[in-house]
Amino acid sequence: MRTKEPTFRVTKWLDRTIPLEAECTSCPDAQFKIGFSGKIRSPFYRPECRGFMEHLQAAFALHVAQVHTKPAVAKRAAEDDD
Ligand SMILES: [Zn+2]
Repeated sequence: MRTKEPTFRVTKWLDRTIPLEAECTSCPDAQFKIGFSGKIRSPFYRPECRGFMEHLQAAFALHVAQVHTKPAVAKRAAEDDD
């Protein structure tokens, strides 16, 4: 039984709308960060801000697939059939 659903949550914002860091609510250690290759100088980064959110959410999705997807659950359900 799942007690807590892993949830994507932004923990650090560059400003009101641009996320810098996010976490998995089920894993205190799991953090997803935007890796900057260069300096941020407003307002030039703004066109990319949507990409920041997508980048963090993609990292979270990967984390869920790797950490929270448990094949054993499906296997046990299949064995119950027997
Ligand atoms: Zn997690």
